[in-house]
Amino acid sequence: MRTRQLWNWIYVNGITDFDRMTNVSKSAREMFTTYFSLKRPEVISEQVSSDGTRKWLFRFVDPENPKLPPVDVETVYIPEPSRGTLCVSSQVGCTLTCTFCHTGTQRLVRNLTAGEVVGQILMARELLGDFPGGTRPTNGLVPSGEMRAITNIVMMGMGEPLYNYDNVKKALLIASDGDGLSVSKRRITLSTSGVVDKIGPTGDEIGVMLAISLHAVNDELRNELVPINKKWPLKDLLEACRNYPGVSNARRITFEYVMLKGINDSDADARELVRLLVNIPAKINLIPFNPWPGTPYECSDWETIERFSDIVNKAGYASPVRTPRGRDIFAACGQLKSESERLTKKQRDELRGK
Ligand code: SAH
Ligand code: SF4
Repeated sequence: MRTRQLWNWIYVNGITDFDRMTNVSKSAREMFTTYFSLKRPEVISEQVSSDGTRKWLFRFVDPENPKLPPVDVETVYIPEPSRGTLCVSSQVGCTLTCTFCHTGTQRLVRNLTAGEVVGQILMARELLGDFPGGTRPTNGLVPSGEMRAITNIVMMGMGEPLYNYDNVKKALLIASDGDGLSVSKRRITLSTSGVVDKIGPTGDEIGVMLAISLHAVNDELRNELVPINKKWPLKDLLEACRNYPGVSNARRITFEYVMLKGINDSDADARELVRLLVNIPAKINLIPFNPWPGTPYECSDWETIERFSDIVNKAGYASPVRTPRGRDIFAACGQLKSESERLTKKQRDELRGK
């Protein structure tokens, strides 16, 4: 009973102070205050794009090592008329180095804890006025009517979620719990660059929608663009997708494909893509490349993207082109990066007082 009460205060009412939990005894409230914290991240900045997209920089103190420097994480909110999507980060930086991705140029600082992944959702709900008694911001768009501002979650922020599997799993089970934040698993999508050995467990144990960062249709090019392909080549990746627990025509896997001019955008690439995905309930999401300072790549021309999309469509796959959102504030896919840096072991030990 007590668990249910706490759960409701924290996730439904958005309370951050144990003392406001009026149906919990005073002694229990004191005990909770001594041992636990419901503190949200500090909001370092908020930027609102001309298209209504919002990007926050949240600062977290490591709960296990409060003496270490805090880490900064980007979280993005993308409003549309009929839904609002929160793009959540799983790591500070990334160990992988996909060549077209800005996050990939930031070394991994650390994994986020489950509390920090959920903390991004709670803080965004607070800032968007989604908790009882909250007020909606007046600048920027939010979905209309009585809808909650956040209806969908995508694990597509900084980091590779399946390299932080346990924490991401815990966080998404909390986010989807019907007595709490209550975001349906069908409205949560986890995107991976292809950590094949965690794809089966994701379906079995988390049960959210899956997106795969495919980006190339042969191993040679994919080894270069998405280097994790050297460990798990296309054949293994597609096999894991074919066997994804719960996959069906009603629950398709999304294949993300970034459109890089002259690199992966030919008609032959489009036809090969269709061939590769045979027997997989799939939809294809074409992402116009979002540039960042120092990148060697350019976005494919609009006509090329349309032609590519046509070939894929004619083969019977939905292939929406992802509208770039928040490019003016560097909030679009692959543009996230923070200033947090990885310390050496010596620096960390010194700060911890070892
Ligand atoms: N690490 C996970 C989650 C990131 S999701 C993954 O790689 O799947 C972000 C999506 O944007 C991925 O499909 C990623 O490949 C793609 N992306 C990265 N850099 C991009 C860029 N500059 N332009 C467009 N898409 C990009
Ligand atoms: Fe990491 Fe994903 Fe960027 Fe690759 S695309 S570097 S896996 S965040």
